[in-house]
Amino acid sequence: MKVQVLQDIMSANDRIAEKNQDLLNKNNVLAVNVMSSPGAGKTSLILETIERLKSEVKMAVIEADISSTIDADKIIKAGVPAIQINTGGECHTDANMLGTGLERLSLTDIDLLFLENVGNLVCPAEFRIGTQKSVMLLSLPEGDDKPYKYPLMFSTVDAVIVSKMDYLPLSDFNLEQFEKAVKGINPDVQIFRVSVKTGEGIEDWTGWLDTQLKGLR
Ligand code: MG
Ligand code: ZN
Repeated sequence: MKVQVLQDIMSANDRIAEKNQDLLNKNNVLAVNVMSSPGAGKTSLILETIERLKSEVKMAVIEADISSTIDADKIIKAGVPAIQINTGGECHTDANMLGTGLERLSLTDIDLLFLENVGNLVCPAEFRIGTQKSVMLLSLPEGDDKPYKYPLMFSTVDAVIVSKMDYLPLSDFNLEQFEKAVKGINPDVQIFRVSVKTGEGIEDWTGWLDTQLKGLR
């Protein structure tokens, strides 16, 4: 009985996710679902990406936070439209929440939309929401064992961004082993090593975004 109810909820979610994706495609908007644990640097990477791309690409951000508007305020300060969606205390974004966010944006004025998901490596990976691409950040201080602990998250994303690379000299994080584990779970995934602080790898990341944008047109 419980399983049936859960299946019904998921298929309703997936139908809305499909509607979201149709709407995005119709408006030539590339939407990227950005996931990670709290503090891995999602907002910092989005802000750096805005800085690098804002002269060529029209961007917007949907911030999914459980309560505060701190991140949305930072994005607006950077000169990019940002809206806050209320997850109602939920630890993930579902398709319906993204749908209500899309209704509040002027999609014809946007090329690239980031959804900053709630900081959590578990259930955000369980929900299709309709973004064409999804990525995750894993910051160096979190450790290289995470692919084994959160395989679903690592298996569903198009790109894994190893953030805070500037911590490497202080860390015993084994990059080769980590990347091997990630590829074992998700052979086609792109892996980027970045540091917003030093600028390492940011061009690889924005180059990937550019390629995805061109693929949409
Ligand atoms: Mg944030
Ligand atoms: Zn959740």
